[in-house]
Order: sequence, then C-alpha cells, then structure tokens
Amino acid sequence: MNTSSQKHSTPSLIGRVRGGSLILLFLFIISPSVSAQQTTRVFSPDGLTYLDVKLADGHLSYSAGYRTVVKAKKKGMKADTLDVPMLLDSPLGVYTNVADFSKDLVFIQDSQSDEPIRQTYHLRQGKQSDITTENNDYNLMLSTPAAKKSGVQMAVHFRVFNNNIAYCYSFIQTGETSAIVVTGEASGFRLPTDATAFICPQSDPMIGWKRTKPSYEENYIWDKPITTRSQYGHGWTFPCLFKVPGKGGARSGSQATTDSWLLISETGVSSGYCGSHLSDATPDGLFTIAFPMEGENNGFGSTGAQLGIADSRISPNSAQAGITPWRTITFGPSLKPIVETTITWDVVEPLYEPSIDYKGSRNTWSWILWQDASINYDDQVRFIDLAADLGWEGCLIDGGWYENIGREGMERLFAYCKQKGVRPWVWYNSNGGWNDAPQCARQCMHNSIVRKQEMRWLQKHGVAGIKVDFFAGDKQETMRLYEALLSDANDYGIQVICHGCTLPRGWERMYPNYCGSEAVLASENLYFSQGFCDMEARHACLHPFVRNAVGSMEYGGTVLQRRLHRDPDKGNTRRTSDVFELATAIAFQCSGQNFALTPRNLTEQPQFEIDFMKQVPTTWDETRFIEGYPGKYIVLARRNADRWYVCAMNAEAAPKTVTIDLSMLSGFAPDKALLLTDGSNGSTPTAAQLKTDKRGRITLTLQPQCAAVVY
Ligand code: CA
Repeated sequence: MNTSSQKHSTPSLIGRVRGGSLILLFLFIISPSVSAQQTTRVFSPDGLTYLDVKLADGHLSYSAGYRTVVKAKKKGMKADTLDVPMLLDSPLGVYTNVADFSKDLVFIQDSQSDEPIRQTYHLRQGKQSDITTENNDYNLMLSTPAAKKSGVQMAVHFRVFNNNIAYCYSFIQTGETSAIVVTGEASGFRLPTDATAFICPQSDPMIGWKRTKPSYEENYIWDKPITTRSQYGHGWTFPCLFKVPGKGGARSGSQATTDSWLLISETGVSSGYCGSHLSDATPDGLFTIAFPMEGENNGFGSTGAQLGIADSRISPNSAQAGITPWRTITFGPSLKPIVETTITWDVVEPLYEPSIDYKGSRNTWSWILWQDASINYDDQVRFIDLAADLGWEGCLIDGGWYENIGREGMERLFAYCKQKGVRPWVWYNSNGGWNDAPQCARQCMHNSIVRKQEMRWLQKHGVAGIKVDFFAGDKQETMRLYEALLSDANDYGIQVICHGCTLPRGWERMYPNYCGSEAVLASENLYFSQGFCDMEARHACLHPFVRNAVGSMEYGGTVLQRRLHRDPDKGNTRRTSDVFELATAIAFQCSGQNFALTPRNLTEQPQFEIDFMKQVPTTWDETRFIEGYPGKYIVLARRNADRWYVCAMNAEAAPKTVTIDLSMLSGFAPDKALLLTDGSNGSTPTAAQLKTDKRGRITLTLQPQCAAVVY
C-alpha cells in the first residue's frame, strides 16, 4: 500500500544508515562543500526556504527563514528579495554517556544533495492521500576528543523542503561501543523575542484523574509572549505554534510586510527514543528540547533514551538503529504551509506492512453523552442500531464493559453487530502498573502475553479496532508499549485509537493500523464543564492550526443535542450552532471518528443534518486552507474522491463575513453542491442549493459560534 521511491540517486538517510559503514563511505566520496569554520546555506527546491548551519568554536548551530520578494520602490526598478529570519542562531547537539556532543565538536565531513530529492508515497489516514515532496539534504559528521576513545561519531541530517525543515541526529559505530545512552539534547529553537505563542504546558506527572497525567490535556496560552512561564514549570508540549510580527511589530529590523507563522514539532518517535517537549524560553527567546520527567510512568524507567548502533554486517534490521527523532519546523508568510504541511509523514517510513486493508470508520459512541451507566447490553444495542440507521461503519463500546456486560454479553453484542453490518470497537485500559485508572477491561494490554490472547478473541469476533486509554507519559518505556501494542494489533487486523495519551509523532505512516490519538482537551470536557462549552468554538478554530496539523486528533465531536446529558433537561448547554457542530466533522481530521450523535437526534434534528452525517467521510485525499486565524475563525476545504467538503467557522463574538473562492478547488461542481447555514439569526439551520457568483465565489456572514458547510 505504501510506496516510496527516490528518483534521485542519493540514498535516503535510512539507506545510508542501513549501510552501517556505508554512511562513512557515502559521506567521504562526496567532495566537501565547506571547511570546518564556515556557515553552510541550504535552500529548499523552490529557493525560498533557507537553512544556515554553522560550526564555530566547537559548537554547532543553525538558523532558518524564508525569502520573500519586495516590490520595487519605483517604476522600472527591479524587485528585490528579502530574507525573513524565523529561527535565530540556535544550538544543536546531544548529551550521551560516551561524550557530550554539544561542545568541542570536530568536523569530519559533510555532504549536500546536488539536486532535489523527490519522494512520492500514499497515506491512508491523514489530511492528504497521495503525497509528493522534494527536498534538499545536508549531512554533517562530527566527533569530539572525548568521543574518540569510544569510537562513536555523531551525524546531523537536515532536510530542507519548501516551507519545512527537519533535522535529526544519528550515531555511528567505529569502535567497540555499539550501545549508548542519550541523557538529553542541546537542540534549541531561538525565536525573535517579539514572537507570540499558541502553546500548551506540559503537566506535572502523576496528577489528574487517578494519577494518569501527563496526557496532553492542558489549556493553551493564546497569542501570548514566548517568554511566558509555563503553568507547571515543565515547558510546553508539541506542536508549538508561533506568530512572528512583521513590519510595524516591535522586532527591530523586520522588513516583512506580513506576520509570519512558525510551527515546531517532532516526528518519528518509535520504541527507539523518548518523546520530548520544549522547555520554557529563556529571556532571549531560546526554547530547548526537554526530555520526560522522572516521575512519569510512576517513576519507573529512564528519562533518556537507549540507542543501539547496529552494524549492518551482523544486524539485518539496522535501518532504525542509532537515529533520533526528527524535529520539524514549518513556516512562512501565512498559515497555509502550517495547516497543509505533511512534514510529519514526509521524513518517516512505514515500520511494517498492514496485515489487512484498513478503512476509516464513523462510530456511534454511547459513553460521551450517556456516560458510564450506558455501558450495558441494552444501551449498546441501541447504539449499534443507531450506527446501522446512519449507515456508519462502527460502534465503540467504551470502558466498563468487562464488569457490566461481560465477555459472554460482548460476544452476543459482536454477533448483533455482524447481523446489523456494524463493526465493533472496544475500549481498554492500558494498565499495567502506571496509574490508578479503575475502568475495565484492565490488565489486558500491558504485556505481550495477555495482549495477544485478547486480540485473538477480538479478531475471532470481528472487532475492527480498540481504543486504549490512560497511558503513562513520554518515556521510552511507554513508547515501547505504544509500538508493541500497535504491532501486535496489526498481527490481528485491528486498528488502534489511543486516548489519555501522548501526541502521535508520524504514526499514521509508521504504523499502518494506527488510527488516532486524543492528546487534546477533547469532547468529554463538554460534558464535564460548562466553561469548556463556552470555549468550544475557540478551541475548534484553533486545532486545525496546531494539534491537528501534525497528527490525527481523536476528539469525539459533533454534538447535536442542545444539552449534554441523556436527560434532555439536564447537563451543560452547548453554545455552538448545529451547523458549527457539523463543520467540526470536516475541520477535525481523524480516520476513525467517534461522533457524539444519540438516538434522539434521528427524530429531533432537521433531516439535512442527519443526511450530512450519513455522507461525511473520515479520510481525505486533499486539504486546502483558505483563510482564518487561530482561535478566531477558519475556512477549510477537504476533498474525498471527487467531492469537496468546505467548512467556514466563526468563534468570535461578532458576526464574520467571509468570501470564499470555490473556483480554486479543482473539480468542484457548484451545481451539485449544497450550502448549509444557521440562517441569518444563527439559529435556523437551513440547507439550500449552492449559488455562487459568476466567478465562483460565495459571500457568507457567520454569526458568533456559527458556521457554514458546502458539500
Ligand atoms: Ca481524556
């Protein structure tokens, strides 16, 4: 299913590392482009994104930005180009038990691709399906006097794409040492000090519900100075969005006419490393890579990473050995490169083949509005019926089933699913000994023996997927659990949703049966808190720019009941309009969507709302950002096969008027499209045949917390 091709003869990083000593050979046969004490500039294939790498006084650093064209001052004069710096001089390096690779670095060799490297691949469950990328490479090999004894050398690999830069480190064995421990990194990201941030703090370990944090469920700071102290003092979780003001902003010397945007994240984290995050920024704007906290995973397991440097002559599976995750930096003069970026998947590779042809799934889900009491046989039958009535693929049976329904009852539900043409999804606790979460089934996913036994049972009864909850943080120990869980599940043809968990880091491509992760304050908080309902529209207009830009987001949205409770007269009150809720089904990307529809919706909602929910897909071939501002509004288009789905959502307190040029969507057929709106007052949901002007545009006025959908 996944195809990968390198048209250019330069081998990929993986190829080089797989070659073991080949990496040395490769680096030495290319003539060096710089001497040790110079800055090397690398451009993206379009010549607009630049990276500068500098080795000076034994320290390696980098900076980056983009080139823009400045209009000629006078008629007849030539237009000029201007470099807009996005990352200022930022440190690189890794601390290991064999040497400190952040200082006393000695240049050995470097190499640069002499023409762009082209890659095409297919991604089943992301924002785009067929992806072609081009990038230029720069690789640098270094040692230190202290490292010489062990014979371990460090390489730094940069890839420069249009609007994206990624880098990682690898370690090479030249002596006896083939096992090293990484204790930290010097890797940093220095921003202009007048930049502002849309970022989430990392929580304390072992706090929250039954000591289950950190689980990436914290409140953002919105457009605040980058030097803001994080709530818990542990810094910020990926991804991190920043705005760099243009001319007129406080930054001295900025000549850019517009604000610039920057997204920093991490990808390619497998069992081979820990997940990292960013520290608080120093007063001069430097964020550095921070490793997991000691207390995560109930204190068990290292905060660092154990790396085996495999020798290809004796290690057939050395492709992933000795390599750190990629850090990714996406930027440009608008938010388009950020919303549309595929860098998270461009630099990773599938780690195994899919055992079956996995498909996206729309699931009913009783727990979100009917809560724990609904995890019983009769209520689950009602939600299986609901899935069948909607023509959806699945029904998720949430936590508590082992105690309240039992295995025998579950087998009857599985048989009922089969009869109704609905695939079951089943909830599990990831525990284990890492927290106190009491929901069952427990002790079924934490080790390979019980897991495989459980998965054999699930496969036998036609279960499509599992939702595994309450993981233990970002330590390598926990990353090993994620990978083992995903790999085992694939052996049984089962997809995996992670909940109460870390950010996925390239997993859609690395693990073909991976479906999605929570790692966000998700829809359950609507049930728990009126304050969260009041903020729902703002969050919905933030996620496509940040959390959901780098990974499938299992949010569990589209609530059509006015109040969030099984009893129509109880519970928190939803503030968003009906069409706003429909729009989130387009705005939030995840190949498995657990929607919050309930049986009442079938008779209470206007038919067009139900018709939309029957139609809306969960997998996308293309994503186009049209306009928006994080937390304020967004206009976004996604395509599935030959049908476009466009959403326009307003989270601001005032009405918002947007003009959308639908003619820019290739193959869009306006005469076949419907326009869904909330009416001029925001509370009369309406469906009508779409009418555009002669140029294929529509102008819409969106009331506060309202939206429009075109499909
Ligand atoms: Ca949660």
